[in-house]
Amino acid sequence: MVFEGLAEKLQGALQKLKSKGKLTDKDVKDAMREVKLALLEADVNFKVVKDFIDKVKDRAVGHEVMESLTPGQQVIKIVHEELTALMGTTQSKLNFSPKAPTVIMLVGLQGAGKTTTGGKLGGYLKKMGKRPLLIAGDIYRPAAIKQLQVVGAQLDIPVFSMGDKVSPVHIAKAGIEHANKHGNDVVIIDTAGRLHIDENLMEELENIKKEVVPHEILLVVDAMTGQDAVNVAETFNHRLGIDGVILTKLDGDTRGGAALSVRAVAQKPIKFVGMGEKLSELEPFYPDRMASRILG
Ligand code: GDP
Repeated sequence: MVFEGLAEKLQGALQKLKSKGKLTDKDVKDAMREVKLALLEADVNFKVVKDFIDKVKDRAVGHEVMESLTPGQQVIKIVHEELTALMGTTQSKLNFSPKAPTVIMLVGLQGAGKTTTGGKLGGYLKKMGKRPLLIAGDIYRPAAIKQLQVVGAQLDIPVFSMGDKVSPVHIAKAGIEHANKHGNDVVIIDTAGRLHIDENLMEELENIKKEVVPHEILLVVDAMTGQDAVNVAETFNHRLGIDGVILTKLDGDTRGGAALSVRAVAQKPIKFVGMGEKLSELEPFYPDRMASRILG
């Protein structure tokens, strides 16, 4: 089950409504209080929770619902719809450039899963019939280049690197030229991460963005870090203008806060989720399916 603790509590709170024939305002309010606590415990951003509960209450405490034949079901339907809306309503797809190559730049903090995700995304695109090229732009973390090469070899996807003595901007540009010459229609640029956001990192990423003008800047964040992941997304978006988020480690025992808050706080969609360490374990993110998984 995804977000086991959260799912159990939400389902518990809503189950009570389902079993009642008629609902009073108080029934709905009590259930909403439980839903609110469950979301807060799952590390969902406080303001996001408040807005969410207000929206559900606005819709659920009214004649239409109370007088329907299955009021409990109606409330659950509203919670489902609002959860889906919170996560972005519809699947948010990658932007492909009409002129090859499409340039995807991956950014994020060290350990978030950027290099692994670069490989996973390459594998996903290859399955779609694309011819991806991975570009090794993380010249600071020892072994990052080697790691990308190993991932590339496993997936049979070429990796462009120039060692660690050349600037990442130069590597990115040369990599795109290489893609042009070799018929690669998508490039994925792996960039450096740090343990924490710092000015040097942001400047370097801004430089790459300015010189390369990527079609997609995707931020890789670790779902296990909860609200920190959301803060990271907000900061990266503010500085770089990201196009979307890839949330990794959703298979771990994350409480769910990041998945539920990122969209509302950073105003950018989750495009993919990492569901394991294996290179095949990347999935497009569907808000409605995630809501169904949480609500059972
Ligand atoms: P980077 O520093 O951001 O490039 O991070 P790495 O790609 O080296 O990943 C850091 C660790 O997270 C590695 O042990 C990966 O196997 C692991 N990892 C990445 N994505 C996922 C995921 O979706 N699920 C799990 N369980 N582990 C992941």
